[in-house]
Amino acid sequence: MHGGRWTIGDVTVTRIAEMETTGGMRFLLPQATREAIREIEWLQPHFADEDGRIKTSIHALVIEVPARGDVPGRRIVVDTCLGNDKTRANPHWTNLQTDFLKDLEGAGFAPQTIDTVLCTHLHVDHVGWNTMLVEGKWVPTFPNARYLMAKPEYDHWSSDDDPEQRQIMADSVEPVFEAGLVDLVETTAVICDEIRLVPTLGHTPGHVSIKIESQGESALITGDFVHHPCQMAHPDWAAQVDTDPVQSTQTRREVFADLAGAPTLIIGTHFASPSAGYLKADGDVWRLEVE
Ligand SMILES: [Zn+2]
Repeated sequence: MHGGRWTIGDVTVTRIAEMETTGGMRFLLPQATREAIREIEWLQPHFADEDGRIKTSIHALVIEVPARGDVPGRRIVVDTCLGNDKTRANPHWTNLQTDFLKDLEGAGFAPQTIDTVLCTHLHVDHVGWNTMLVEGKWVPTFPNARYLMAKPEYDHWSSDDDPEQRQIMADSVEPVFEAGLVDLVETTAVICDEIRLVPTLGHTPGHVSIKIESQGESALITGDFVHHPCQMAHPDWAAQVDTDPVQSTQTRREVFADLAGAPTLIIGTHFASPSAGYLKADGDVWRLEVE
């Protein structure tokens, strides 16, 4: 199950889906009732159904940068979904046995060919395939990759004593550390000429989005500063799991105002297929225009 591919100049982004749901991640956005969602008509048909149930997706995005002269090409996986075999509190997310890795490989991305894994933040649905279970042990899924995480993000979650988060760190983050594969980076790190991190704080303390620029074209991979396009119509609808809802609302307003009318493709980390579009002003707020 995949689909979704975009080109930004010389750069290609491919979406590999792990799970798609209608109504399933509603708990994230308490204000997104069916009535309120039905009022945002442009969400249909891609991002909501006619009953006002929101559509969401959990997917990874693979960024490919071609080699140029002496500079080698890059293959970067942004966010690694939920993963298989992991014990989780959410009954829909526990002990999964999905075909994600097969689908990734089937799309041409064998795990050993990935050079970089980028986690926009360290929530459960963004770190899962960092590791996989082999003979009872959690081992890195991408053995030849550097795993990049923002330092303030790691510092925050590694000192969090919530039992669920400790489990997530233990099975999906610490094993890649122990394998020596992690680089803790600034929230403004430049990955290569075409790709850099942009801090979009509030959802979590070290949350980053990914800016892609090539040949005069640009795109932004959101991460979770926005979970669903309904937050473009209601930037004040913070997610229940935002660590700082005031800051996350401010971030949404700033980024949306900045990108409204810009030719920057917005690629949503949890947006249902087609998962991408352009931000437009819509009165005092915004909307996503799908191509
Ligand atoms: Zn998140």
